[in-house]
Amino acid sequence: YVAKARNRGVAVYDPSEDAHDPGRLALLSELRRAIDQRELVLHYQPKVSLSTGDVCGAEALVRWNHPQRGMVPPDRFIPLAEHTGLIGPLTRYVLDMALREARRWADEGHPLQIAVNLAARNLTDPDLVDDVLRLLEAHQVPAHLLCLELTESAITTEPEHALRLLTQLRAAGISLAVDDFGAGYTSLAQLKNLPITELKIDRSFVATMTTERSNGLIVRSIVDLARNLGLTTVAEGVEDAEIVDALAADGCSVAQGYHLSRPLPAVDFDRWYAANRALSRLA
Ligand code: C2E
Ligand code: MG
Ligand code: MG
Ligand code: MG
Repeated sequence: YVAKARNRGVAVYDPSEDAHDPGRLALLSELRRAIDQRELVLHYQPKVSLSTGDVCGAEALVRWNHPQRGMVPPDRFIPLAEHTGLIGPLTRYVLDMALREARRWADEGHPLQIAVNLAARNLTDPDLVDDVLRLLEAHQVPAHLLCLELTESAITTEPEHALRLLTQLRAAGISLAVDDFGAGYTSLAQLKNLPITELKIDRSFVATMTTERSNGLIVRSIVDLARNLGLTTVAEGVEDAEIVDALAADGCSVAQGYHLSRPLPAVDFDRWYAANRALSRLA
């Protein structure tokens, strides 16, 4: 087996890292093929302003449209891609598709910011910044229409390196979000020093904020913290209207979740957007 948390000196068996597991090897070669065959598709989930009700952007979420297995969710193959070096090509492919969509939205008269998830491993790729800038240029998408989402662990594993990289991306005008915030171990000192623009509150707090008092207090504290640091707050996992009201009362900026829309294929997203852009989704 491979030790998962090598540098912490703890060995945890994780089948997704076991090079001798035949299921994993099969999946790995299939994933390699899937990238070449363009079997990965993006679904788009709207992000809606809590103050105006306007759609302000969308998050691109990858799925594997597998010929036999059907739609495979990202949790089933992103970790595998991360442990095998496939995450580099996968991320570029996702960025390419996402920026193509962002260009199309802008051409159709409604520029929306597109958010793309980065894996922790992407931050150790020396070509990442150049490749992102090259793809923006290739698709003629202005940098402010791209947001990159990073998890806390991506940022805290090698903080000096992450800071250098994020500084370059931010200097180019790209927005930077910390995803699943509250679920990890970012110190306030780290947070203050990073050139990030947005905190996405982990859905484990948001989805239960109106039923578990302590989670409601955590959400409010994160919104206050973000405001004091000059950051936008996005609540993920907004599953009902009561949560929308509570978030608005707390001063949270943006909502994302099943109550507004599930992640949708591009065609359905366009239809949803046409039907909802003029309405207040929050009513
Ligand atoms: P994430 O970035 O935190 O994305 C949000 C996840 O929550 C998505 O799951 C979304 O479908 C789900 N979600 C949205 N609203 C609700 C809600 O109201 N309730 C509940 N219960 N869930 C909601 P999904 O699409 O399965 O993605 C899971 C994770 O996989 C993502 O979490 C992200 O970490 C990763 N991921 C997705 N696409 C990519 C990608 O292109 N690259 C990388 N590196 N990671 C990705
Ligand atoms: Mg995300
Ligand atoms: Mg998240
Ligand atoms: Mg997540």
